[in-house]
Amino acid sequence: MKLFTYQRAKSVDDAIESGGTYLAGGTSLIDLMKLEVLNANRLTDLGRLDLRKIQADPKGIKLGALASNTEVANHPDIKQRWPGISQALLAGASPQLRNVATVSGNLLQRTRCAYYRDLATRCNKRVPGQGCDALEGWTRMHAVLGTSEKCIAAHPSDFCVALAALDAIVHVQGPKGERELPLTELHLLPEDHPEREFALNEGELITHVYVPAQPAALKSRYVKARDRQSYAFALASCMAGLEISQGVIRSARFAMGGVGTKPWRVPAAEQSLVGAAPSREVFKKAADLALAGAKPRGENAFKAELAKRCVVRALITSSEAA
Ligand code: SF4
Repeated sequence: MKLFTYQRAKSVDDAIESGGTYLAGGTSLIDLMKLEVLNANRLTDLGRLDLRKIQADPKGIKLGALASNTEVANHPDIKQRWPGISQALLAGASPQLRNVATVSGNLLQRTRCAYYRDLATRCNKRVPGQGCDALEGWTRMHAVLGTSEKCIAAHPSDFCVALAALDAIVHVQGPKGERELPLTELHLLPEDHPEREFALNEGELITHVYVPAQPAALKSRYVKARDRQSYAFALASCMAGLEISQGVIRSARFAMGGVGTKPWRVPAAEQSLVGAAPSREVFKKAADLALAGAKPRGENAFKAELAKRCVVRALITSSEAA
């Protein structure tokens, strides 16, 4: 680990003026600094800022950037009105990590691509232009959607998949003021520059995430396929929420994890469900549409089929929710 300076921010403005790398829960950043994958010269600790509140009203819920993953997962409004968000959070990491990991840290966590974390290998995300050893290497955990010839790393978050499906909005503050952007636009596709991961400008700090209330969220469900029952990243996952009345799907939301280079949502696949009666056949067609663009590489060909099954399972589970 390289030497760095440390300071505790007294306010959001103080943090933004510091010019340092923001430190929240530290569950990802500190690991990467120990490995010297990320080398921050200056850390600005956000831990004392008043960004921890979770506030619900009839129109939605505001999740403070520093609320822990545990606090969000166990919040009564989240469990009742956005249950898929709670399920997605509880499917990630371990209880100890969830107690410390924050909302904003979860949104900004880095890929778990093994090559990214191994300084002995080539990685365009770690060292721009260096090359990517994953392309001809061990690809079992890598993405099949949104990949490029420069990077095929899968996005790691479960929480972001749920937020993407439910139209969450990310609020940020930076040197040029405040702005908001949809969660679906926060993570960038790798394209020719995998080192650019987030649609954030220099110095911008996430202050909170807003999740609107909507009928499809009430029956939302998260399904995750992984190599072991807990403390494992998704091979494939799906968060789905359906609004059904009089035997017809009125609105549909779903997004996939483990298969994309970012949380993956296909509006045409969601739209294909609207107006139909819920059935396994209808769900399968939507899953086929959602995975139509999949480009497997080497050992990860199984992921497209696994993701389809996660989509169908999540849609069935949502449709059958009491
Ligand atoms: Fe790096 Fe992306 Fe290649 Fe992994 S897949 S080694 S993160 S460039």
